[in-house]
Amino acid sequence: MIFDNLLILAGAGIIAGGAYLLGRYRNIPAKPHPESSNFESSQGELQDDHAFVNGETGKTAAPPEDFSDNVSWLPDAITILDHDLNLIWGNSMAETWFGFSNSGHAHSDFTELVKSSEIREFLLGKGYPESLECFSPENPDIALRLRFLPYKNRQYLLQARDITRIKALENIRRDFIANASHELRTPVSILYGYLEMMSEKKGSGISSEWRQAIKHMHKQTIRIKQIIEDMSMLTRLESPKTPNPPEALDMGELIESTSNNAGALSGKGSHSILTKVNANYDLLGNRSEIESLVSNLVSNAIHYTPAKGRITIKWDVKSSGGTLSIADTGIGIEKQELSRITERFYRIDSSRSRNTSGTGLGLAIVNHIVNRNNARLRIKSIPQKGSVFSVTFPRSRIQPNNRSTDLLLG
Ligand code: ADP
Repeated sequence: MIFDNLLILAGAGIIAGGAYLLGRYRNIPAKPHPESSNFESSQGELQDDHAFVNGETGKTAAPPEDFSDNVSWLPDAITILDHDLNLIWGNSMAETWFGFSNSGHAHSDFTELVKSSEIREFLLGKGYPESLECFSPENPDIALRLRFLPYKNRQYLLQARDITRIKALENIRRDFIANASHELRTPVSILYGYLEMMSEKKGSGISSEWRQAIKHMHKQTIRIKQIIEDMSMLTRLESPKTPNPPEALDMGELIESTSNNAGALSGKGSHSILTKVNANYDLLGNRSEIESLVSNLVSNAIHYTPAKGRITIKWDVKSSGGTLSIADTGIGIEKQELSRITERFYRIDSSRSRNTSGTGLGLAIVNHIVNRNNARLRIKSIPQKGSVFSVTFPRSRIQPNNRSTDLLLG
């Protein structure tokens, strides 16, 4: 029975891993991947059958023989810890990757045994999400994904899976996009420059037929340039090495400057743009990321709202966190499309996006920034009435500023 349940556990891990990969590659939001801030986790205790400790006496016991026999062959590392995080037992994969031996280290404090501060903090639960990607403390060439599950009678099961191959493939994909966008940048800029020069050339010498063609080519190179920019931005956002120092951002000022740019994008007064800002609270974040988040959402609102429509940009703070919302009175989104629009290059209807010269990457960028900031993206929309995109940042990212007279967050 225990073994059956472990298989279920392993199966669930594989499914979660698969869903994670799919999510990574297709950028599907709100999938049960612990890295995704959109995901609400509930990690309940396993059923009684999983326990192999006599809770009444409080004594830890060696795992039943069939349990250890059966999990010994698993390609995953399985380690059982007691509620004080002392080692009870681990299979041979765990001994190899974490560098302990069942015979020599039984009942030792596992957080002391394991030579990695990252894993130590993960086990101590200091603010990490439910899974950790790290390297084996014994072999830095092996990438691992760790999950830490509570067991009955306040024990824990630490599961580690080798994700070296997955990480290598992710790196290849990321490097390919980074190199492709880097290599394309110069030739496209040259094409763009010449086409711009030609499209500005006044007078005779260019037939009206060619003038039309040049205008068209010029417009398309602008689009390619934007796609390259967006691909580079996505690569930067995916890179774990990207520096992300948070700074206190004056949201009033940030929203004001975005709404001025949006006014220019909208054209002469064709949309009314309103802002409602609680100026008492700053957002702790990376300026270029948050600017990109706001401007992507606002430019979409403009693009997908017919002339004379209304765009409302809000920054609202409650005791639970801060919410940035962008509401429009535009064409809206059908319910069945909502779960897919944050995928890369996903378009509801390519003709409407082509009209707006969109790249299909804007919401993928938004989704990455949301995840990197432990925020949550909500989209509400009614076709032909409008949409509201709200991003809620956790309370830890909100800071009263020196202009604050509001005591909401102390
Ligand atoms: P694009 O560059 O095509 O706008 P995005 O990733 O920004 O790409 O958006 C994906 C799709 O979501 C768009 O093609 C559009 O159909 C839809 N969309 C995004 N924002 C809005 C909005 N405010 N109103 C209606 N549809 C929207």
